[in-house]
Amino acid sequence: MSFSDLAAKRSARLKQQQRDKIDDVTDDIASDKKPTDDNPINPINRPISILNDDIQVEQTSTKGRGVFARRDIKRGTTVLSTKATMIALEHSYLDKHCSYTAIPGGTHGKPPLARCSLCKKTHYISKHAQRLDWPVHKRECECLRAAKTTPEDSIRLMARLVWMRDCKRADGDTDWEKQLDGLHETYDLLSEEDKVGLGERVRQFALYFTKGEVSRLQNSDVDVSIPYAMRLLNKIQTNAFALQNSDAVGVAIAPLAALVNHDMHPNCTSQFTRADDTLSVVLFKDVKKGQEITTSYVDQTLPWDMQRDALWKQYRFDIGECPKDNNEGSGNVDKDTLLNTVNAAEKFYFDDPLRAFQRLQPYYDTVESAYAPASRVRVRYLRVCFAIMITIAQLDNMPTWAPRLTVELGRKTVGALKLILPYGHPIRALTLAEVAKQMLADSGEERNMMELAVVDKLEKCVLALDESRMETQIGYGKDSALEGYLVEEIEEIRKEIQMRRLATVAV
Ligand SMILES: [Zn+2]
Repeated sequence: MSFSDLAAKRSARLKQQQRDKIDDVTDDIASDKKPTDDNPINPINRPISILNDDIQVEQTSTKGRGVFARRDIKRGTTVLSTKATMIALEHSYLDKHCSYTAIPGGTHGKPPLARCSLCKKTHYISKHAQRLDWPVHKRECECLRAAKTTPEDSIRLMARLVWMRDCKRADGDTDWEKQLDGLHETYDLLSEEDKVGLGERVRQFALYFTKGEVSRLQNSDVDVSIPYAMRLLNKIQTNAFALQNSDAVGVAIAPLAALVNHDMHPNCTSQFTRADDTLSVVLFKDVKKGQEITTSYVDQTLPWDMQRDALWKQYRFDIGECPKDNNEGSGNVDKDTLLNTVNAAEKFYFDDPLRAFQRLQPYYDTVESAYAPASRVRVRYLRVCFAIMITIAQLDNMPTWAPRLTVELGRKTVGALKLILPYGHPIRALTLAEVAKQMLADSGEERNMMELAVVDKLEKCVLALDESRMETQIGYGKDSALEGYLVEEIEEIRKEIQMRRLATVAV
């Protein structure tokens, strides 16, 4: 096999993986209380339940329930692994992941998925998984067959929860429903406008759930009143986790993990770090015995005002004005204009990445001069630019300048993230992995390089992959899907290096 074949094979593999995709971390999660400014060790809390050796739930005097450390715990520890109570896959993933376990079919030695022969929509990793899903899917299957279009995941999640509720009632299991009822809601705090929006989605739910006979919802055989549905959907919106953060394949409800409170200075993330429906709460900072375990419900690299808006919109708590010492910079570029442009580009870049990049490119130099290196406005700009460039680098008609610029932007983004996030933070770890992948995928430049220079480049890539692997072990905990991918990739590149070395010697 020639060197250019090796390089082409590597590029193809990486391109495919890019499609399978490691994407953005969403460490959004939900729960019932207000944020705090710090994590005071509060010995007078009342313990409610011990979850395991590491953590317990306590009733605090100021902010409802919270999760606290029972001993000193090192960063990188997974303090809680919990199966989602219910999941629903996003429409385009219904034929790629198991509807019961969320496991992707046909990849990494996993068996192919089997399709439900009735609705021809849901897929399962095994007969066993299909059987376990059947009590809920039995009714879902009818609704999917009757629906003109498949409703969005949160609406299907709600229907699945109602059917499961009925199954549990029939079994005499009252705890399950109590847990569902106990999820935090913000319904009473919503504006009239928000309630109208919620009502519209409840109407979509009703159409799907009753197979078009919405009047059935009101009268009888199903115990779902409109007010009940409004509150349940609000609970889902406030508590749902993005399923498998690496690539949002759907939504999930996991009440235990939703107990972890929000904080502007968090020490853990709650995410689906494995390729299934297990949600992990992982510490990315050391914590002391008695300290509260907290997470950020929004992307903590966002500028303050964006975090503030997002937290208010979804959780109805207000973190207040940006602290003065949290200066995010300004100067000769108007911050609002810049952020509005970035937000607009983010909305459509997946459909038209080249145009999105053209919108942002004029700011490239001015952002560097107007904002401090650690400014979150700059970080926001860089992260969106990098995401756009990754998309451009995957295009079949990719411009020749794309790969190099993608790597350059990736390096800048990592540099900025290192200034604002601690070592091992999942967003840092993931971005490092992404940059290493982009370095590897850029094989075009190798055509004009001496063989030893290519080997040298690949060795740098291995170092980059390994750096990301070490941070991943902290932010994602041990044995995450991302770490598995990185280990495999390092192995592949080492093989390629060895083959190139042997061939060089042979010549
Ligand atoms: Zn079916």
